[in-house]
Amino acid sequence: MDRRVRVRFAPSPTGALHIGGVRTALYNYLFAKKNNGDFLIRIEDTDQGRFVPGAEEYIIESLKWLGINANEGIGFGDGPYAPYRQSERKPMYKAYVMQLLEAGHAYYAFDTLEDLEGMRERLKASNVDAKYDAITRTTMKNSLTMPEDEVTRRLENGDAFVIRFKLPRKEEVKFHDEIRGWLSFNTSQMDDKVLFKSDGMPTYHLANVVDDYLMKISHVIRGEEWLPSAPLHVLLYRCLGWEDVMPVFVHLPLLLKPEGNGKLSKRDGDRLGFPVFPLKWVDPNTQETSVGYRDSGYLPEAVVNLLAMLGWNPGTNQEIFSMAELIEKFTLERVSKSGAKFDQNKARWYNQQYIHKMDDTDLLPSLHTALQTNCPELHFDDQYLLKVCHLVKEKITFNKEIWDYGQYFFIDPKNYDEGVIKKRWNEKIPALLNDLVQLFSALPAFDHPNIETAYEVALNKNGITGKDFLQLFRVCLTGVAGGPPLFEIAELLGKQITINRIKLASEKISI
Ligand code: GLU
Repeated sequence: MDRRVRVRFAPSPTGALHIGGVRTALYNYLFAKKNNGDFLIRIEDTDQGRFVPGAEEYIIESLKWLGINANEGIGFGDGPYAPYRQSERKPMYKAYVMQLLEAGHAYYAFDTLEDLEGMRERLKASNVDAKYDAITRTTMKNSLTMPEDEVTRRLENGDAFVIRFKLPRKEEVKFHDEIRGWLSFNTSQMDDKVLFKSDGMPTYHLANVVDDYLMKISHVIRGEEWLPSAPLHVLLYRCLGWEDVMPVFVHLPLLLKPEGNGKLSKRDGDRLGFPVFPLKWVDPNTQETSVGYRDSGYLPEAVVNLLAMLGWNPGTNQEIFSMAELIEKFTLERVSKSGAKFDQNKARWYNQQYIHKMDDTDLLPSLHTALQTNCPELHFDDQYLLKVCHLVKEKITFNKEIWDYGQYFFIDPKNYDEGVIKKRWNEKIPALLNDLVQLFSALPAFDHPNIETAYEVALNKNGITGKDFLQLFRVCLTGVAGGPPLFEIAELLGKQITINRIKLASEKISI
């Protein structure tokens, strides 16, 4: 069947959005764009007990930060299927649950919490799986066991009830998953899920299926944790007479802990020091704060790229993809079945790659901030600052590291790398440094080729090889053992500062 591609990301506003959820949103987005389809955001807030204030706004802000923009739905402007928040769609669901009741696919249940607890205790005692199913339902208070007039009386009386799905007994439910192939579940492993409650609110299962149907969703792309719900959803499509428009199911592999054993959790992030949320999140109940990718200094392009590669591969060695390239290359066939291990070093590597690709001007604001914080009394023109950005960006993983790596462009070193000094300093060095000062002073143009030539002359004169001295010379100028090309650093510092630094190092180190 040729069908317009329409996919949705359907989070529940129960807290911060985990990066696994972000990846689900991203794959939906890529798939929609690739196929000239629609991508919508639907908020699944039927479980009011789990509602967390601010979570919905957090989800939308995260997606916008990453450029995962929807065509329709919450946060992106209503489309033809509004409203897109399930609590606002409440009146729509009743007709469908009534249809199921009338056709005998659902039933009223009036069991109290104590009744349910009693059933569980009884079944546990006889070592049977404690669930409300084709067998247990015959012993409970529901419209299948009660006389019709009592059911009517209870309903008229306003007694609390739920409507449960009447699972067929011992039936194989087969369906196709785009990533996992044909799957089969036996209803004996499942239970009669609650679809609707007497407060008029549907549960996740009913609302999800009804909305996917009404919103003409062609593919349900979601996390693997929803796979056990899929057979129930398939049965709901069947019982509601919608089998011919049932969406294609696509269950994405889990994001795993770095060690590979189990789902990546917030605790792994806390334990190993990396974010599992896109943005900073303050839990409104506990006030507990969790760091996010954005506030940790990750660039949105890097996060998109790394998440795209966690569970999908292009079939080539290419690792760096812009969003446009991902859209072009993305296919569900290349999504893997097995879970993807989160790799913190890879995440950092991605950020580094994107920082290297940044324009120097894009780094300028970070440098301005760093200067304001560390040496507000000093002033440098942007031309100088841009050159610093250019040299330093090769060395940093996060914008905020620009000061750590580049402070010697603004202030004299306070300390000198001890390891290098111990290894490289000897009695010949003071004379060599002195010669460098003389030669540099005499240079008509202080550019890096001239500086290098003068440096070579000084080395030859003192009988020292370049390899031995270069790192020590770097430490004299910058204090640290590594960094951008040294003669370019000297050129940027300028003749006077370079000479001053050499003199300063001779004094401080030889003492
Ligand atoms: N509301 C579900 C969630 O929180 C959506 C699952 C689905 O996509 O069907 O992830």
